[in-house]
Amino acid sequence: MPLLEDKVAIVTGGASGIGAATARILAREGAAVAVADIDGPGAAKVADAITAAGGRAVPVTADVAEPDQVAAMVAAAVGEFGGLDVLHSNAMLGDPAVMGADGAVTDLDPDVWDKVMRVNVRGYMLGAKYAIPEMLARGGGVIVNTASVTGFLSELARPAYGTSKAAILGLTRNIATQYGRRGVRCVAVAPGVVLTEGLKANMPPQAREMMAAHHLTGRLGEPEDVGELVAFLASDLAGFITGCAVPVDGGLSAHVASYA
Ligand code: NAD
Repeated sequence: MPLLEDKVAIVTGGASGIGAATARILAREGAAVAVADIDGPGAAKVADAITAAGGRAVPVTADVAEPDQVAAMVAAAVGEFGGLDVLHSNAMLGDPAVMGADGAVTDLDPDVWDKVMRVNVRGYMLGAKYAIPEMLARGGGVIVNTASVTGFLSELARPAYGTSKAAILGLTRNIATQYGRRGVRCVAVAPGVVLTEGLKANMPPQAREMMAAHHLTGRLGEPEDVGELVAFLASDLAGFITGCAVPVDGGLSAHVASYA
C-alpha cells in the first residue's frame, strides 16, 4: 500500500538535489506532486520525468520569498489536483558557490545575511502561510521543513546559513503549536552532508572523504535518504510526530557531540 495514496504535495526547491529526489519518492508513494522552484526549466524536467514514469506531477515556477508567487504556487497545486495535504519546504540559498562564503561574523556582509534569511526563513514562513488554509479546508495536513544538523550545531564558514537553519527549527515548533489541534503537523528534517550534484561539483574528493569520516555510517548521505524520511513523516504512519526535528545525518550530530 503506497504511503501517500490520493495525497497532494508541493515540494519547493524541487528542481534539484534533495527536493528532486523527494518529489520522485512522494510520487512513487502515490502523491500528486507540484514540483516548485525558482528554476522553472529544472522543475519542468523533474515533473516530466515523474509523469513519464507513470506518476502525477506539475512544474511550478515560484520564488518562495515572494508572497504573490507562493500564493500562486499553492493555487496551482490546488487547481491542478483539487486540494493540498503536504508541503515540503526545502528551497535554499546558502551554497558558497552561489553566494560566496558568509565568512566570520565580523566580516559578514549584511546583504548576504538578508539574502539567505529571505529564502531560508521568510520563504518557509510564506509556504506555511498560504498552505495551511488549504490544509485546514481538508481537515489537516503536514508541513515538512528541511533544516540541517547545522541548525543544532554550528558552521565555521556559514553563520548566516547556520542561523537560518536554526530559525527553521523554531518556525517548525511554532507552526506545530499553533495548528496541531486543528490537524496540521509540522516537522523538520535535519540532514547531515548529502551528496547532491551541486555538492559533487563543488566539494573536492579529499574534503568529501574527511566529511564522510565524521558520519558514523562511513558514507555521506544521498538525496534519497532524506526523501524517504520526508515521505514517512508526511504519511499517516507518522501521525504522532510533530513539532520536532528528525536528524537524517548518518550519526554526524552524535559523533560531533561526542567527547571520545
Ligand atoms: P540544491 O541547491 O540542489 O537545491 C536547492 C534548490 O532550491 C535549487 O533547485 C534552487 O533553484 C532552489 N531555490 C533557490 N532559491 C529559491 C527560491 N527563492 N525560490 C524557490 N526555489 C529556490 O540543494 P540541496 O542540497 O538539495 O538542498 C535542499 C535543502 O536541503 C536545503 O534546504 C538545504 O539547506 C538542505 N540541506 C542540504 C544538505 C546537503 O548536504 N546537501 C545538508 C543539510 C541540509
